[in-house]
Amino acid sequence: MTVYLVGAGPGDPGLLTRRGADILARAEVVVFDRLVLPALLELAPPTALRVDMGKGPGERGRQEEIHAVLIEHGAHKTVVRLKGGDPFVFGRGSEEIEALRAAGVDYEVVPGVTSAFAVPAYAGVPVTHRGLSTSVTVVTGHVGDPSAPGGVAWDALARADGTLVILMGMENRAEIARLLMAGGRRRDTPVLVVEWGTAPAQRSVRVRLDELHAVELEPPATIVVGAVAGLDLGGRGRRPLSGVSVVVTRPRLQAQDLVSRLADAGATVVVVPVIAIAGPVDPRALEQAAGRSAEYDWIVFTSVNAVERFVPLLRDGRSLGAAQIAAVGPATTAALAARSLVADLVAGDATAAGLVAAMPTAPVTGDATDAPGGRVLFPRAADARDVLAPGLRAKGWLVDEVEAYRTVTAGPTDGATAEVLEAAAAADVITFTSPSTVDRYLTLSGGRVPPVVACIGPVTAEAARRAGLEVDVVAAEHTAAGLVAGLVGRREATTAADRAEGGPGPGPSVPG
Ligand code: SAH
Repeated sequence: MTVYLVGAGPGDPGLLTRRGADILARAEVVVFDRLVLPALLELAPPTALRVDMGKGPGERGRQEEIHAVLIEHGAHKTVVRLKGGDPFVFGRGSEEIEALRAAGVDYEVVPGVTSAFAVPAYAGVPVTHRGLSTSVTVVTGHVGDPSAPGGVAWDALARADGTLVILMGMENRAEIARLLMAGGRRRDTPVLVVEWGTAPAQRSVRVRLDELHAVELEPPATIVVGAVAGLDLGGRGRRPLSGVSVVVTRPRLQAQDLVSRLADAGATVVVVPVIAIAGPVDPRALEQAAGRSAEYDWIVFTSVNAVERFVPLLRDGRSLGAAQIAAVGPATTAALAARSLVADLVAGDATAAGLVAAMPTAPVTGDATDAPGGRVLFPRAADARDVLAPGLRAKGWLVDEVEAYRTVTAGPTDGATAEVLEAAAAADVITFTSPSTVDRYLTLSGGRVPPVVACIGPVTAEAARRAGLEVDVVAAEHTAAGLVAGLVGRREATTAADRAEGGPGPGPSVPG
């Protein structure tokens, strides 16, 4: 088959190209290393074989091993070789292509966004700027002794008065700075150092060239030397949640709306899937219930998951007969609309109790024993709280409940790896969108929770408090949009309070 050499970008999954994402989504084998973040690997099918070639700095000799793996799988599978940044910028991608050509394996190169340009940009530094820099040189700082013959001509780079972007330079930073100053660069030349740029863990430091030796950031880090490093365009952008990292505790696909709204608000999102959605224990029961839909007066949906599991089992819209549809809130309504079903009734406050309140009382028929007032079908979660069915029964309805899906615990194989949990622990905010996510997260993380806790609604907030957490934000509208609005509101309030105190500024701690 084919080996695709795909540039993954520096970390933020949004910087993967469309071609790269397309191919990754149908990969059978993904070969990656240390610079590729778990959030990107999640974009590959769950069934894809993941091969970690985790090449740390200094681990030589593994390159041949990588070639062998690519050639072996590439002969009969769709293989994605994911490389940090762009595959041809200090990535040894060209060597891998030479090996594939020699072995007669088909291949395609998919360029990526290089850290050399994107990492400074996310930290607020353009690599060129009219009047400040007319050239930019991307140079490796990892060439053994920088003053040895055959190494980088630092004295020439010192004299050429443009921007220098140094990759793999942390180890030799003191020597590099010394050589640049000896070659004529001013001691007070601005320098920017960014560790894990564009990723949730991004940290950056601004110093002068004669202070570079003392910077204590870890690889992977990008060093920018030159007048442009003195500019500060305010990081990646100015949006309501810029600089805030937020943990989402559901699988990316299940939380797509929340993840993209947070990203749109400027937040960096760390996805920690602590739960997964599984089909019902008894799929036949759900199929049969769907087949009898027309016998009901109402079908009640309290989650997107229920809609997604139930509606595809209908033959088509006519299978519903005269049954009306009730939905708990906007997300469920939207999921129905996506399947061409209009909710006849939507709860005012997007809770089960709200839905009970919104439902009419069952029509009274003469003989209560053999002609019940009306029938309701409720496709529900296996572990749903018992609010809806009893509430409706109290209103005179005959309620049939059927299990439509189950929430099961997720773990490292679903993406909640040690690295992801580490990034989550360092985040500013954690969001919970259901009670089950609270306990599961606490178990997985060993109780390490970011400083700000935000919940989608009162039930989830109650679960968080019971688990001993202090809840800072409860969404007024119990949707992804409401949750994001709650976070933005809190940040504005915090910023205003800081200003009133003459304090520093922008809300929760601002990395980068
Ligand atoms: N092909 C990659 C570079 C590989 S060399 C690219 O185009 O980006 C590896 C070096 O890239 C690291 O030592 C570091 O200097 C830089 N780098 C890669 N990802 C980075 C990131 N997220 N933040 C800062 N520097 C990064």
